[in-house]
Amino acid sequence: MKRPTIVVLGAGYGGLSTVVNLQKSLGTDVADIVLINKNEYHYESTWLHEAAAGTMSPESVRYDIKSVINGEKVKFIQAEVTGIDVKEKVVTTDVGTHTYDYLVISLGFEGETFGIPGLDKYALSMANVKAARQIREHIEYQFATWSLEEEKDDSRLTLIVGGAGFTGIEFLGELGNRVPELCKEYDVPAEKVRVLCVEAAPMVLPGFDPELVDYAVRQLKAKGIEFSIGTPVVEATPEGVNIKKGEDEFEFIKARTVVWAAGVRGNRLIEESGIENMRARVKVDKDLRAPGHSDVFIVGDCALMINEEVNRPYPPTAQIAMQQGDMCANNIVALLKGEPTSVFTPDLKGSICSLGDDDAIGVAFGKKMTGKKASFMKKMVDNRALFLIGGVGLTLKKGKFNLLK
Ligand code: FAD
Ligand code: NAD
Repeated sequence: MKRPTIVVLGAGYGGLSTVVNLQKSLGTDVADIVLINKNEYHYESTWLHEAAAGTMSPESVRYDIKSVINGEKVKFIQAEVTGIDVKEKVVTTDVGTHTYDYLVISLGFEGETFGIPGLDKYALSMANVKAARQIREHIEYQFATWSLEEEKDDSRLTLIVGGAGFTGIEFLGELGNRVPELCKEYDVPAEKVRVLCVEAAPMVLPGFDPELVDYAVRQLKAKGIEFSIGTPVVEATPEGVNIKKGEDEFEFIKARTVVWAAGVRGNRLIEESGIENMRARVKVDKDLRAPGHSDVFIVGDCALMINEEVNRPYPPTAQIAMQQGDMCANNIVALLKGEPTSVFTPDLKGSICSLGDDDAIGVAFGKKMTGKKASFMKKMVDNRALFLIGGVGLTLKKGKFNLLK
């Protein structure tokens, strides 16, 4: 009998967790496992704000996929997925097509611009490691050009960050540490630089613990970061952004750098796959399968699950993506054995938001924390993710060990 083929799309947190757990559970003769990813490397999406601000090199954020998979059990194909046809059970890539018996879609997130004019064209977004590198280089170019030009354009030194969710705040934390370094490196007077966060909701980190939010805002303001709260960005142009300040009141802010961090959606390919979805996210069944498609699993940011306690979707996080990867692998193994699948329930351990690599806020195991303690915990969480995928070797190679900074 032909061995079943399991095709996993995307080697982010969800895809790699699935593959690493499948290779642990299945012998070489049980199934063919194929992993398809755009790049030959995995990047830690949760560190992209550091690569974007320039506080960490893009190289430090990524590692070779082949270093964590067992080549005897998993065939890795570096290719860009261009189409998913769940009716014909075919995946198309830029280098060929693949049929499957089981498909795992873990293609991750894209920045959401909500159709706001100009954002797609004029704002930058840290959706992957190449985009993060572009942000870093764009900012450095503005500083370098300002210091060189005869007639100084101060809007080169204005940076707008759209969105004060976790991504926006973590990026601002890094900028708070990076801007003084840039000023020194490019001979720019610190008072010329403006970093402004524009948030649509009436508070920073909407929905998060207010006491911790106050701490974060205080710390960021102390580093010179400004906030404009309750003022949605409504347009971006090559010169800057327009923000809405009241019923009929708008303000145009000149800025050569606009980084959009105001939300995410699932991967666009989902929308053309024939699977029912909302903004490219699929409301999955309890065992992580796509409704009506018993051979298709969805994990990570392309999956949507409702937290019934609060009747709202769980936020798309790496924490959940990795847990889903584990469960997805277990459920595929169960199906191969003819056993029933299990229900996925997230085991939420808390969330920590960094404010640079020396400060953070968070709630972990029910306890609130700030400052160095929270920062230590955040680095431990980052290292744990490496450990779960690549064991001690990967953790020692890529981990964060400036734990007490
Ligand atoms: P991803 O990690 O995005 O991986 C998707 C993979 O698919 C990538 O390797 C990509 O290259 C590949 N891919 C995409 N399209 C194609 C294609 N067409 N063909 C082939 N391959 C493709 N969550 C937390 O829990 N804790 C945090 O501290 C945290 N910090 C974050 C910080 C930042 C700056 C950001 C942006 C997000 C953060 N998140 C955090 C959220 C977390 O990063 C995501 O929830 C997580 O990455 C989702 O995992 P995933 O496997 O679904 O997708
Ligand atoms: P988000 O949706 O959590 O936050 C986006 C923010 O942008 C919101 O505060 C929203 O009000 C604001 N916004 C929306 N439209 C706007 C507009 N027109 N103008 C100005 N502001 C606008 O998105 P995110 O911060 O990118 O996070 C995405 C996911 O990744 C979340 O699930 C988050 O929990 C997760 N994440 C987690 C961490 C962490 O745990 N440390 C870090 C980063 C991201």
